[in-house]
Amino acid sequence: MQKETRSTCPYCGVGCGVIIESRRDQIIGVRGDPEHPANFGRLCSKGATLHLTATREVTQQVRLLRPMRRLERGATPQTLGWDAALELAATRFANIIRRDGPDAVGFYVSGQLLTEDYYVFNKLAKGLIGTNNIDTNSRLCMSSAVAGYKQTLGADAPPACYEDLELADCLFIAGSNTAWAHPILFRRIEEARKRRPDMKLVVVDPRRTDTASSADLFLQIQPGSDVVLFHGMLHLMLWEGWTDSAYIAAHTRGFDELKALVREYTPDRVAQTCGIRKEDLAEAARLFATSPATLSLYCQGLNQSSSGTAKNVALINLHLAAGQIGKPGAGPFSLTGQPNAMGGREVGGLANLLSAHRDLANPQHRAEVAALWRVPSVPDQPGKTAIEMFQAAADGQLKALWIVCTNPAQSLPDQATVRRALQRAEFVVVQEAFATTATCDFADLLLPATSWGEKNGTVTNSERRISRVLPAVPAPGQTRHDWQIAADFARRLQSCGIGPRQELFPYDSAESVWNEHRESTRSRDLDITGLSYAQLEQAPAQWPWPEGAATGKPRLYEDGVFPTDDGRARFIAVKHQPVAEPRDARYPFALTTGRLRDQWHGMSRTGTLGRLFGHVAEPAIQMNAQDLARRGLKEGELVHVTSRRGSIVVPLQASADLASGQAFMAMHWGAEFLGGMGTTGHPLAGINALTNPAYCPSSRQPELKHTAVKILPAELPWKLVAMAWLPDDTALRQREAVRQLMARFPYASCVPFGRQRTGVLFRAAAHEAPPDALLEEIETVLGLNAAGALRYADRKRGQRRSALLTRGPQQTTLDAILLAGDTRAEAWIRTLLQEELPAQDYGRLLLLPGTAAPAALAPRGRQVCACFNVSEDAIVAQLARCTGSEGERLAALQQRLQCGTSCGSCVPELQRLARRTQPQQQAA
Ligand code: SF4
Repeated sequence: MQKETRSTCPYCGVGCGVIIESRRDQIIGVRGDPEHPANFGRLCSKGATLHLTATREVTQQVRLLRPMRRLERGATPQTLGWDAALELAATRFANIIRRDGPDAVGFYVSGQLLTEDYYVFNKLAKGLIGTNNIDTNSRLCMSSAVAGYKQTLGADAPPACYEDLELADCLFIAGSNTAWAHPILFRRIEEARKRRPDMKLVVVDPRRTDTASSADLFLQIQPGSDVVLFHGMLHLMLWEGWTDSAYIAAHTRGFDELKALVREYTPDRVAQTCGIRKEDLAEAARLFATSPATLSLYCQGLNQSSSGTAKNVALINLHLAAGQIGKPGAGPFSLTGQPNAMGGREVGGLANLLSAHRDLANPQHRAEVAALWRVPSVPDQPGKTAIEMFQAAADGQLKALWIVCTNPAQSLPDQATVRRALQRAEFVVVQEAFATTATCDFADLLLPATSWGEKNGTVTNSERRISRVLPAVPAPGQTRHDWQIAADFARRLQSCGIGPRQELFPYDSAESVWNEHRESTRSRDLDITGLSYAQLEQAPAQWPWPEGAATGKPRLYEDGVFPTDDGRARFIAVKHQPVAEPRDARYPFALTTGRLRDQWHGMSRTGTLGRLFGHVAEPAIQMNAQDLARRGLKEGELVHVTSRRGSIVVPLQASADLASGQAFMAMHWGAEFLGGMGTTGHPLAGINALTNPAYCPSSRQPELKHTAVKILPAELPWKLVAMAWLPDDTALRQREAVRQLMARFPYASCVPFGRQRTGVLFRAAAHEAPPDALLEEIETVLGLNAAGALRYADRKRGQRRSALLTRGPQQTTLDAILLAGDTRAEAWIRTLLQEELPAQDYGRLLLLPGTAAPAALAPRGRQVCACFNVSEDAIVAQLARCTGSEGERLAALQQRLQCGTSCGSCVPELQRLARRTQPQQQAA
């Protein structure tokens, strides 16, 4: 019988509600929950395909389903039982703690954990073991926002809510490609702008993203110049008399110092430093200050910076100075990247925080938490934050690492150090749902965890709204919930003589954990003592919601009273600091990183679905087109991208969205998809081999958004491309097998493709043809060694081709192909294979090097609409036939091709294409 379960999407911080459809132990569908106040039934391209990432085939091929142990590094892991696994973990940790002290171990957890998981891990580290060495990948995502809120408003609490998106008169988006990173919020913005055409959208970003393309005013600033911009806006507000002196006098402190500081930030200086027009600066200041309600949205563009906190406070200064806070449609609203970064903050799951927004530095707070946990004390020294933790392990100070639901061998900057840390640590535990992450390769012990659709607990989204996460299907294999694993390990550690004797982890359900967390919030700013699991199952709720309250609070500080000693918000006067690593003659490009529309983080989940590679099929680095021409580089050419820390090889792509001197590469391309063997004899480690671990001194968030790099031709003339349709029940395993071969080439990438079926595309390049045996290995994995496969080889010229044609009842199709040496025919052969077109006439052509494309096989172009599989070429052709206003042409396009009518993720791109494509009659 079919069952429906209300839960949430596990990807971004919008926190959309989903309804999971399941039959017996199988998830069979997902749709948006029409009653969830974050999304009202909508899902983006990622959320709408969640069920396809949880099929039996995917689970069996890529999930970690039983505990495993490596007897030595690099060996194949062996299965063991839970008891043996946790006993081993407890013994190793206890020995290290006894020998080197509690600070010799560290826990690196995740913003994708549920609040209950987070709570138990935090208590395990700080309460039982007595170390504050617990940090999270949320450090990479929002710790600057935390520090910014605390320094200015007195508490880590986003003061606005999603409804404010619809009530704002001016939306000021800084450092956020909301259209791609928080798509459902962007749908709400689009709809609000349609209803209220006077609403203004100002976007600040070094890149012309889809969000920027939708703006009324776009400030394309130089990377790292945000503080200059915000101070320049305040300078103008003061000059023009646009500040709210009554609000400043009644509710704030410290304005005089800031006023004195921003005097230096004259329009001339600001325009020059930011690389924008003075008129645009003035217009931004006017819209921000004089609109009846201004809401700012910001994300990693501000946070992932060596001045992340400064950027946050400089923006919040503007809200306080203009009185744009504490009223409908106004306020500084930080968007969280991860689904439960907020929940982690609530339980104090960072190295410098304690439960319920308490501070480690405050003795009374420490005493309160110790009393709640029934332990003698909690340590007073801040623990090691993400970057520090891995640096300490690389230096040999940290001996044991426990990594939960995150993939530091993909996502942390400076991968050389991270990998040294994982190799040098004496004992590495990886608690994971997916067996395919790069970090799993470094684990001594692998512990299988439950995942989306299986977990039970709560998450909090960007607007402080807590939702229930409910299991639709039983835990597969031997997987266990993360909090259960932590609690079981904690009890075994106690049996080894670590920590107090009494029962500290008496939980029998997620609810029992949550109830303890709830009690910790009593009388705190995030008090949720008025809520219960049962109530949250009826409807998600926003904190604070203290006992006796009838509702939560959508908007904070409406009374102008802030949670500081004197009830006043603080202006913070911070000077602009340049990026940690400015570009120079040796490293002349500023590399920034960001998201793709249809992918999530390290792609351990989204990377299982070929259809999510339709929009961006393969890794590439983007550069300004004129920079390409000036340096004699060509689109598609392979380049070495090198920073002071490492190097990768990747294809080049021209982009009109970037200013000269800048480069962009998506954050998702880790070693799981992009690899090769470096000249130093170490496998290339993906995008974060390059990025900079320099961090903000207040938030300790690293500067992932800016790295100085050089970009030089790679000169790898021998090329290979191989692709194949594979059986659903083995495709992902076969992809893993091909992936293992990436390190045998100086450059290689390996990605899935396909909508109804699963295919794998492997690409490689080298100085010269590799041994035949290596090519045969690739052929074997992709099924090209079958008896009927067609073959051609010219060893002298480094040429090799093999093709597998399959005769079906209707037609003959190309199922697999390998082109080595001469790959010029790739485009048409790729169309033939990926579109599953009749191939009976092409058998001989497939084996001829350099064959021109047959007329019938023109490539169909890049996919824009993932839901209806509509290509850019088809959209442009249709738009050329549509007349009228931009809105009318879009409506006609959508009626004809359906693109953008389901999840809506491609709508900003359709708008861009509509602006770019002239109607044929007009063009004539
Ligand atoms: Fe998931 Fe998309 Fe909603 Fe984010 S916007 S929570 S990724 S459905």
